[in-house]
Amino acid sequence: MSSTLESIRHLSETLFQYTNVDDMVRQVLHTALETIGEDAGSILLADAKTKQLIFRYVVGESAEQLCGTSIPWDEGIAGAVFSSGNPEIIPAVQQDPRHFSATDRLTGYQSRDMIVVPLMRHGGAPIGVMEVLNKATGQINRDDLDILVVIASIAAAAIEQTDNAEAIRLKDIQLQQSQKMEAMGRLAGGVAHDFNNLLTVMQGFSEMIVSSLDPSAVGRMYAEEILKAAQRASGLTKQLLAFSRKQVLEPRVVNLNELVSNLEKMLKRLIGEDVNLLTKLDPNLGWIKADPGQIEQVLMNLSVNARDAMLGEGSLTIETGNVELDDLYASQSADLQPGRYVCLSVNDTGSGMDETTLAKLFEPFFTTKAPGKGTGLGLSIVYGIVKQSRGHVAVSSAVGCGTTFKIYLPQVEVPDPGVVVTELGSTCVQGSETILVVDDEEQVRSLECGVLQASGYRVLPVGNGEEALRICRESSEPIHLLVTDIVMPMMNGRELARRVALHRPSMRVLFVSGYPDETEISSEGMAGKTNFLQKPFTSDTLLRRIRQSLDGMEKSSAATCTLPL
Ligand code: ADP
Ligand code: MG
Repeated sequence: MSSTLESIRHLSETLFQYTNVDDMVRQVLHTALETIGEDAGSILLADAKTKQLIFRYVVGESAEQLCGTSIPWDEGIAGAVFSSGNPEIIPAVQQDPRHFSATDRLTGYQSRDMIVVPLMRHGGAPIGVMEVLNKATGQINRDDLDILVVIASIAAAAIEQTDNAEAIRLKDIQLQQSQKMEAMGRLAGGVAHDFNNLLTVMQGFSEMIVSSLDPSAVGRMYAEEILKAAQRASGLTKQLLAFSRKQVLEPRVVNLNELVSNLEKMLKRLIGEDVNLLTKLDPNLGWIKADPGQIEQVLMNLSVNARDAMLGEGSLTIETGNVELDDLYASQSADLQPGRYVCLSVNDTGSGMDETTLAKLFEPFFTTKAPGKGTGLGLSIVYGIVKQSRGHVAVSSAVGCGTTFKIYLPQVEVPDPGVVVTELGSTCVQGSETILVVDDEEQVRSLECGVLQASGYRVLPVGNGEEALRICRESSEPIHLLVTDIVMPMMNGRELARRVALHRPSMRVLFVSGYPDETEISSEGMAGKTNFLQKPFTSDTLLRRIRQSLDGMEKSSAATCTLPL
């Protein structure tokens, strides 16, 4: 007996030093078997997700085959002990009506007695069971049961401690990951914002040069090249804004199936003839509220990646379905709420990815492709769009086994007409109204004023909100429109618009910004007489948006860009 106590004491001293559950269960089972002088048994641990008991460690003749397999956690003898939390002595296992055929695989199981004890968590709920087989029937010793119960309780405490430590470690990694993405997003957004100011100036003035020069002039060709480069750069800042979740979204209530079906033809062309495109669309799919153009972008980026991973041959499967994300799943991601979602899954039979690639997948400019082949922006855009739409991206992949991306977007209850976007045709863009132009960037301001004056408008240019307010207060002339930058020192555009409205309630407002920041404009600030123009813009867009703003939203809803969700 003293050697039994010694073994148990040794176990309790060493077990808590392990950091790995597999090492723990191994030592627990060996100690248990040695202490009571038996030679076969197993430890099964519960998996809450699958509701199974998994054979984590087995000693006995068929140990290798049995280890890693599982049985439902409420079936068989093990399931009964796990559910009740009561240890049991089972004489002649095979005669027990609850006997579960899977355990037959352990040679000799049927003809023996068995002791099964639960591994009880501190609070009372079991985390698994330990089974020990008696060498011969009819020789079960009650003391053995007590010894196993003690060993099981030490084991449960140690396993629970490692599980907790592991959960904390995973949460930490997740937090670090999301903080890293957040920081990158801010950096990318900041760069894009400042570049958009510069690009507005470059684009605007080179447009002016182009239109002021004779088509045969050499200078005109140079200016056209500058213009093209500025337009390409503006495409790049758009992508950065998408990643940093600062795009202007135009969300509508949409049916994802319709969107996928409409895109199918184009996707087929994109992925090539030798890749099979399969779609499995749930006919009872719920509605989502998202920007259809952006969701199309997501689908395209995922499909292009799938094509690249399959080297021109394989299958691409696009699937839609309703899913309910429970608390457990939602808790895996910091900003994910439990609830009803629509899932868009994109699966390919391509190369798959290793751990290193998976860890960096969504970072902007991360690519494993040859220079010129990949930009590393595809998935960061996917990430930005999905996050901005209050959704979630999950990916599962293994080298050689293909990849599945799952995009979860929150379901909305009733389809409402949402925002219908109609493009303005080439209506008249001239005007003679008075426009108050506010921008702290002198170059942007002078560009805007130049364009407006050339089209007949009267402009009042000012560099800050205070000055703009003074003009509104003191001038007795009508001012038809306020065109203001949003991000400005001292007084931002939103504050300015709010205060201007006190003096001139009928004045319309056009906000201009490198990106709309949710903190700068709230939805109420965008209602009614307001409108938004994203930098950089062409003179044509500026003029059309100005005309729209002056003529009122009723005529065209093209202006009713909705701000980020
Ligand atoms: P890019 O495609 O320009 O490289 P992405 O952001 O779209 O940039 O993708 C980043 C990287 O992620 C790719 O270079 C590739 O290594 C990996 N990747 C993305 N999608 C898949 C996929 N379906 N299968 C295998 N690898 C993928
Ligand atoms: Mg890509």
